[in-house]
Amino acid sequence: MRDTYDVVIVGSGPAGAAYARTIKEARPTARVLMVEAGPVVSDPPGRHVRTITDPRERVAAQFASQGPQARPADYEEQVARALSPSRGRSAGLVARPGTWLLDTSAPAEGETGFPAAALSSNVGGMGAHWSGASPWPDAAELSKDLDPDRFDAALTDARRLLQVTQSAFEQAPLGADVRRLLGAHYNPGRNADRVVQPMPLAMEVRPDGQRYWTGPGVMLGDLLTSHGDGFELRSDTAARRILTTAGRADGVLLHDRLEDREYEVGARFVVVAADALRSPQLLSASGIRPAALGHYLNEHTMTTNTIQLDDSLRAAAQGLRKTSEGAVDVLAGVSWVPFHDPSFPFHGQVTQWDASPIPVDDTFEAWPGSVVECSVFMGKAEVRYEDHLEFDDSRPDYFGMPSIKVHYTFTEADRQRLDAAVAEAKRMGSLLGEPINGLEPAVMPHGASLHYQGTTRLGSDDTTSVVDTSLRVWGNDTLYVGGNGAIPTPAACNPTLTTVALCVLGARDLAGRL
Ligand code: FAD
Repeated sequence: MRDTYDVVIVGSGPAGAAYARTIKEARPTARVLMVEAGPVVSDPPGRHVRTITDPRERVAAQFASQGPQARPADYEEQVARALSPSRGRSAGLVARPGTWLLDTSAPAEGETGFPAAALSSNVGGMGAHWSGASPWPDAAELSKDLDPDRFDAALTDARRLLQVTQSAFEQAPLGADVRRLLGAHYNPGRNADRVVQPMPLAMEVRPDGQRYWTGPGVMLGDLLTSHGDGFELRSDTAARRILTTAGRADGVLLHDRLEDREYEVGARFVVVAADALRSPQLLSASGIRPAALGHYLNEHTMTTNTIQLDDSLRAAAQGLRKTSEGAVDVLAGVSWVPFHDPSFPFHGQVTQWDASPIPVDDTFEAWPGSVVECSVFMGKAEVRYEDHLEFDDSRPDYFGMPSIKVHYTFTEADRQRLDAAVAEAKRMGSLLGEPINGLEPAVMPHGASLHYQGTTRLGSDDTTSVVDTSLRVWGNDTLYVGGNGAIPTPAACNPTLTTVALCVLGARDLAGRL
């Protein structure tokens, strides 16, 4: 006899957490099981690892999230390096802490490849490691298939679930000066909600001033402490197949990774929120393969110009708190240059630090908030069916699922848009100061954004999309999807807030049917 739940949610990142929370708010008595392939790495489960104050514990949590790279042979050496950034980074392509690289093999002939594609596997997913930037998309970035009023209402809920605020760095050095200088160039012609402004960030600023980044643990909140009330989180438990009867999802085959045991659970509804690479992997492995599944992959190609603020601002910084003692990860503020159609078809993210994130000579002096990374994200100019994920059943991955190969090509039109993005990053830098070391903007390798879109895209046509606008998989209406893969457009802004809003739409639809 298999145990049966009202809803089984696969994946515990922001997408899965948004489904769980919304369903339980609408239907408090619903029995919801959330399964997560990775381990619990923080306490409470899903807590953002940046809020772990002990550095060694924090680094251990990052490693534990790295799936096959959780325990490399030189673990102690890598931990020491992570604890002391001045000891230098490893050579070559390096995954961000808390993630591991999906596929380091060469791209197929004639393709550009996606070498920096990375994943997290832990309770909270990437949402326990993310930077929290939560800008909202411009209408021009969104799918015309979405009803704007319905989406706006969901966005309000998404902001609440993620605790989005624009005042987290109100007191930070020189943030207002940065926005004034950028705004003089970018603001003319924009509506009030699209001018240069503090970046909306997913975090709570506590009364003592501590910034508590929102991870899925915050989103799940009291669900985690009230198991008896019908919510259960099962970590180290991978979904291997969605089970179907007469074309409708009605259960999940699970793998208990600690006991190496497979078993089934029943479900009235199944939600797959296993990130933009592994949601299509699970659907494909289950024989659920709408024509668009795994196709139309796109991401944000990112270019970054690291500069030091103009010396004329140095006087304004005198006496301001110095927030770091030379560490490279002390954030002193984040500003937002929103996408604006058609004058700025990008997302601009301007991050201030107290120290240089790139090597500098001894004469370089960082003053509070003076090191500024001007990052410009571009949506892919050409979203193509050909950019897709290939699943290979004959080569199981670390979790025993078909391995994933990414087929991705940057076209001529994409290159032209990237040239414009690089020019924009230079312009931003020149508005604020001088490039550190005189360097040109850096272009990140493909996949480095960690913002993968399109692979389970929503739409109104079952030949070019995987889910409808309520996030139900075409042809299987007890099966829902959540995650960045559902975003059908090459939206330029960071995707998580949009994703959480879409999950709210899916969850409300599902809850209405319970
Ligand atoms: P995830 O958070 O990745 O969670 C998916 C979970 O599903 C994983 O834990 C995985 O183990 C689990 N899973 C996969 N397959 C299975 C299976 N078969 N069975 C069970 N479980 C499974 N986004 C922004 O919008 N703004 C930012 O500022 C930002 N900064 C970032 C900085 C970093 C360092 C990182 C790593 C990411 C950042 N992101 C940012 C991206 C953001 O974290 C993701 O958009 C978000 O986490 C996606 O949510 P998700 O729930 O779809 O996927």
